[in-house]
Amino acid sequence: MSENNQNSNPRQPNRGGGNGDPKMPPVPKFKLNWLYMIIGVALIVLWWNGKGGSMVKEVAYDPQFKEYINQGYADRVVVYDDRTLNMYIKPSYIKEVYGPESSKMGPQPYVTVQYGSEESLEQFLEKAKAEGHFSGSIEYDKHEDYIGALIGSLLPIILLVVLWVFIMRRMSGGGGMMGPGGVFSVGKSKAKLVDKDQPDRITFKDVAGQKEAKQEVAEIVEFLKNPGKFTELGGKIPKGALLVGPPGTGKTLLAKAVAGEADVPFFSLSGSDFVEMFVGVGASRVRDLFRQAKEKAPCIIFIDEIDAVGRARSHGATMGGGNDERESTLNQLLTEMDGFGTNSGVIILAATNRADILDKALLRAGRFDRQIHVDLPDLNERKEVFAVHLRPVKVDDTVDVDILARQTPGFSGADIANVCNEAALIAARHDKKAVGKQDFHDAIDRIIGGLEKKTKVMTNDEKRTIALHEAGHATLSWFLEYANPLIKVTIVPRGRALGAAWYMPEERQITTKEQMLDEMCATLGGRAAEELFVGHISTGAMNDLERVTKQAYGMIAYAGMSDRLPNLCYYNNNEYSFQRPYSESTAQLIDEEVKLMVNEQYARAKQLLDEHREGHAALADLLMTREVIFAEDMEKIFGKRPWTSRSEEIMAAEEAPNEKAERVEETSDVSE
Ligand code: ADP
Ligand code: ZN
Repeated sequence: MSENNQNSNPRQPNRGGGNGDPKMPPVPKFKLNWLYMIIGVALIVLWWNGKGGSMVKEVAYDPQFKEYINQGYADRVVVYDDRTLNMYIKPSYIKEVYGPESSKMGPQPYVTVQYGSEESLEQFLEKAKAEGHFSGSIEYDKHEDYIGALIGSLLPIILLVVLWVFIMRRMSGGGGMMGPGGVFSVGKSKAKLVDKDQPDRITFKDVAGQKEAKQEVAEIVEFLKNPGKFTELGGKIPKGALLVGPPGTGKTLLAKAVAGEADVPFFSLSGSDFVEMFVGVGASRVRDLFRQAKEKAPCIIFIDEIDAVGRARSHGATMGGGNDERESTLNQLLTEMDGFGTNSGVIILAATNRADILDKALLRAGRFDRQIHVDLPDLNERKEVFAVHLRPVKVDDTVDVDILARQTPGFSGADIANVCNEAALIAARHDKKAVGKQDFHDAIDRIIGGLEKKTKVMTNDEKRTIALHEAGHATLSWFLEYANPLIKVTIVPRGRALGAAWYMPEERQITTKEQMLDEMCATLGGRAAEELFVGHISTGAMNDLERVTKQAYGMIAYAGMSDRLPNLCYYNNNEYSFQRPYSESTAQLIDEEVKLMVNEQYARAKQLLDEHREGHAALADLLMTREVIFAEDMEKIFGKRPWTSRSEEIMAAEEAPNEKAERVEETSDVSE
């Protein structure tokens, strides 16, 4: 989740042009230099041509040109159509025309002349010929401005090329004139570096719980500390490991702790940092990151949210499909991972909460070939996490970590950190000297359901409707064997929800039809209670109905759970080239079966509520007065639950180590 950057400083890379990394393949720089040279030479040649290869003297038509002709200097004359002419000079007269500069002249020196009209020029030359002053040829030519035209057409291209080269240089991190951090430094990796030997580095003691994950990464710490031990025996040190788990479970924390334990530098960045709107930036950032890391080896690179770049590449180049930039970034990442030796001392840790969507190439041997699962903490782990985050908080003696851990099933480490912080803020708002139990309860409630909206104006009637609705859910979940055990019901509006019930769902590996039907029945309990006891139905049940409908369609079309469509799964995993793998008549059948199933459960809900109408009414009254009720209150009204209350079962099981965590599920009734 949120990243803790206190002691990370953005790296200011050394950009001196001269001290390039010797391990870097020299190809890109070499290429760029060539481009520069070509452009430079081209410009010089053009400029030289523009000068005409030698000094040119321009002389006036009258009298100088006429004089030169009459004195017999001219070897030949080239007349151009733009009222200029070139008079080529006989070698023996060069001195007369050019004086002391004549030694610098090329083999065919000439002077240029602007003439007035072709007619008079011709007349003059005819006359000179007749008089014997001029015996050379007169040629006519078109005077196109080749050079000007060339420069004119090439200039934009040259400018573009120069600009492009410039940008590419900045991207690939070559030497530059703009200095670090300039606009053109987009190609630099955005990795943050936590150097070693920094005070208060994170170590394993800061990571609560996660025993198995810690064990696995402990091996990596060993590799980093003592690579010889493994390589001597011919083992290969892994290049990367993938930390898989939901957000906020401490993946970043764990990676930092690995770096802290091994006392090596730690580069961290997010997968989305690679992706920019410029094409080619991602790939060059990857290159830059690995270059920096190799300089600092041994070290750790941590890439958070690797799915931002590592999502499976699209199959086949369909038109407009796929994200070329992301794919080229991913390819570069793969290339870099293959490129550095196993023993270079750079280990890459990446985090994701969905390993299944990653490109298979990323998970191949030699890349991220180990997956370390970082799960939500169970009860005992939550106690440990609380212990870590309560360290800096001043608490009074009403606070019991045991109870806090019990009240926060499904919370991640980050959520717990948040609870502790929120509790401290609430206590401070009430000018307390220390944080108490109630502050923690309020913090937990707020984090689960958003801010209480005590100010939401509600009439007594509205409140009564909501109480009856929520009591309907609560009653049914009490009397249905497989419904999720209830933890708490409230009619205090939070966020957009008007009322809510908290359940503790069991994470079942497989779910039976009976269990699903019981759940559906309990979800319909709100609407059923409205119809039975309020007399009119409301939009308050919309959320419930949506869930029920989806569930029914899933059960019938995907799980093959209806009598008329048994053992058929129409799940369309985009494997069919058509929209849905069944006929129109089957679609109708599915619709009918869904209606049947929902109606049956609704009838069952109404019947159950009718049987327990006194209890339901008592519950609704209690909700009206107390606004919040817990499982204990339910027991007082209805007596012991006919089945071993699953919440008890789970609580008991939680005590046993290695028990899977459960989540609190919330059903909220959104008003429209
Ligand atoms: P992730 O990378 O899995 O999304 P983080 O490592 O960024 O989660 O966790 C965010 C914060 O949550 C951490 O800075 C830490 O305060 C807290 N946290 C998460 N897991 C734990 C844990 N196991 N022990 C202690 N604190 C934790
Ligand atoms: Zn409801």
